Amino acid sequence: MSKVPTITLNNGVEMPRLGFGVWQVPDDEATAAVATALEAGYRSIDTAALYANEEGTGRALAASGLPRGELFVTTKLWNSDQGYDPALRAFDRSLDKLGLDYVDLYLIHWPQPRRDAYTETWRALERIAADGRARAVGVSNFQPGHLRRLVDGSELVPAVNQIEVHPQLAQAELRALHAELGIATEAWSPLGQGKGLLDNPVIAKVAARHGRTPAQVVLRWHLQLGNVVIPKSVTPSRIRENIDVFGFELTTDDLADLAALDDGTRLGPDPDHFG
Ligand code: NAD
Repeated sequence: MSKVPTITLNNGVEMPRLGFGVWQVPDDEATAAVATALEAGYRSIDTAALYANEEGTGRALAASGLPRGELFVTTKLWNSDQGYDPALRAFDRSLDKLGLDYVDLYLIHWPQPRRDAYTETWRALERIAADGRARAVGVSNFQPGHLRRLVDGSELVPAVNQIEVHPQLAQAELRALHAELGIATEAWSPLGQGKGLLDNPVIAKVAARHGRTPAQVVLRWHLQLGNVVIPKSVTPSRIRENIDVFGFELTTDDLADLAALDDGTRLGPDPDHFG
């Protein structure tokens, strides 16, 4: 059994609070990376049509021999497939590539506000959820205005908004809105893509206090803020290190030190303008 605690999404579905992200992992390497993650105790895997590794991911899920009910599989609808019919067709392709008959979570990858198709696309995700082909549906990279518009005009509130969050981009405003609307915050690039953040002296100091690594401290910060996290690595020792974060706790002082790192640094595109 997995040792990762879960959160209860707004439709009652349980989602592991820590999962494994596979962005930038080539399809032929995804099978080994996901297999290592499953052996290490991860049960939640985050892929996307864009990542072009749904097949490799699906092969590892099938080969693991784990019961489907123990796994939590997320994939995402790519920008070019927004719109009602295109979204339904894209979802079928993703299921087929994963070799599954349902996913646990299906997300609209980016809002693309200038295209203005996300509310219509959401109708397709509502239909997919109603048909039981996704146990939960949600969005990714939605800004406060996009979320409010979606929620005001829809039956179904997204279960999750997967957004860029790390100590340099703590996203206080969005997290507060998620709490108000009952949407879970899932943090992408939770380790800051391993670029510099993990060398930060403040994080090193907190890590030394606990005899832990910088990556473990950053993952703990997310968990204590209430975020779901999906760190990525293809290195087996790091894959294991990143799930070994449930045996210690950051103090209020540690959290205050880390809060001072929030300077609004974005590593990915600005969702208001991307796509
Ligand atoms: P991440 O923050 O998880 O960082 C991954 C990198 O950090 C690795 O490539 C490695 O260089 C380094 N790293 C990992 N573990 C380490 C350790 N223990 N010690 C030292 N260095 C370590 O970055 P990410 O891959 O961008 O984000 C995680 C996942 O989030 C992705 O794989 C993907 O599933 C998802 N994501 C989603 C979106 C979106 O638009 N929805 C965008 C980006 C990423």
